[in-house]
Formats: sequence, C-alpha cells, structure tokens
Amino acid sequence: MVQLSGNIFIVTAPSGAGKTTLVAALLAAERAVQHSVSYTTRAPREGEVEGRHYHFVTREDFEARIERGEFLEYAEVYGNYYGTSATWIRERLAEGRDILLEIDWQGAQQVHKLFPDAVSIFILPPSLEELESRLRGRGTDSDEVIARRLAMARSEIDHAETFDYILINDDLGTATLDLISVVRAERLRPARQLARHGDVLMQLHTPG
Ligand code: 5GP
Repeated sequence: MVQLSGNIFIVTAPSGAGKTTLVAALLAAERAVQHSVSYTTRAPREGEVEGRHYHFVTREDFEARIERGEFLEYAEVYGNYYGTSATWIRERLAEGRDILLEIDWQGAQQVHKLFPDAVSIFILPPSLEELESRLRGRGTDSDEVIARRLAMARSEIDHAETFDYILINDDLGTATLDLISVVRAERLRPARQLARHGDVLMQLHTPG
C-alpha cells in the first residue's frame, strides 16, 4: 500500500450533472487542491484550452503513452481515450498535495486499487429529465451524441453506490457546499492529521 500525506479526491459524474461547475467552485474555495489535467484524444470543445482543460493529443500519441506506461489509469469513454498522467500524480503526492481527479467510474476503480485511501465522490443530477435538458442547453453536442451520452449516463449512474460519497446536484449552492465539506472533513481524519501535523499531536500527548 502507498503511504500518502495528501488526499486523492476522485470526482465522477455523468456528463451534464454539473461536475465542471462544481469542481471549479471547489478549486476556487480550496486553493491547495491541485487539479489533474487529463490527456484525451477527443477534439477540444469551444472555449477549452490546451493544458488547462485537457492535454489534447492524437490517438497515435495516446497509444504511445500507454506503451510507455505513462498513465496511472486510462479508459475509453464515448469512443475517445482519456488518461491520467502517472508522473504528475506521483510528483504531487511526493509534495504532500491534495489532488483532484475528474475521471469516469472505470478510472475511479483503477485509482482505488492503486490508492485504497483515495476518496471518491459521485455527482448525480436530480433526474434524467433534468440531465437531458442540461445536455441540450449546452448546445455543443448533436442529437446523436446527446442520445449516446444519456444512455451512457444511465449505465454510469449504476456505479454511484460503489463510491465513498454521493452528491445530488439539484441546487448548485448546496452541492458546492457538500463538495467542499467532503474535502474539508477528509483532511481531519486522524491519519491525515498525523501526517500533516504530527509535531502538534506529539506535543499534546501526555508524556510516558
Ligand atoms: P468530457 O468529454 O465530457 O470532457 O469527458 C467525458 C468523460 O471522460 C467524463 O466522464 C470524464 O470524467 C471522463 N474523463 C476525463 N478525463 C479522464 C481521465 O483521465 N480518465 C478517465 N478514466 N476518465 C476521464
């Protein structure tokens, strides 16, 4: 088992559940949390920036990275590859940082196997109707892609109960607070406190 002092937070959600907005709010409130930028073979959406939202690479490049063992985990989602850089994660962990991964349930399972202490959070939409209307409102995907994403969403939601936490994003303010609360509470677990503030705890113990 790998010894951590920082936490790995895994956030998973079907597309349209509001994950991106919630994660942005968490990162703004909790500046110490570092966001892992995944590699993907999908094309950038309007407004997405290389190196900030994703590292956009070709399929050939991605497969070469798989061969070289560069990914902590990777999965094929909606016909595209997505993967997390192992080097980046290991460097942040060595520095004792809290890390946030926005990955799908398959990636979440892989990371949990490598890091059993990782904290996984599944974000649910309040209903499938709401999910569909959010996907349509985004205006970025064709009807066919939306239908595919909805079908995928249903099968993704089946995995929600295997996560450590489930958030329902009905009201954005409440869901944001819930997400921040999970991060803050996990930092207070005794093992984390010992790793971060061992000196304080030692000092407070009764001698002998
Ligand atoms: P999107 O194309 O909407 O940005 O992402 C599609 C799906 O891929 C989402 O469920 C997202 O969480 C997942 N995803 C993004 N990056 C990674 C990654 O590095 N690994 C895995 N396993 N899934 C990812």
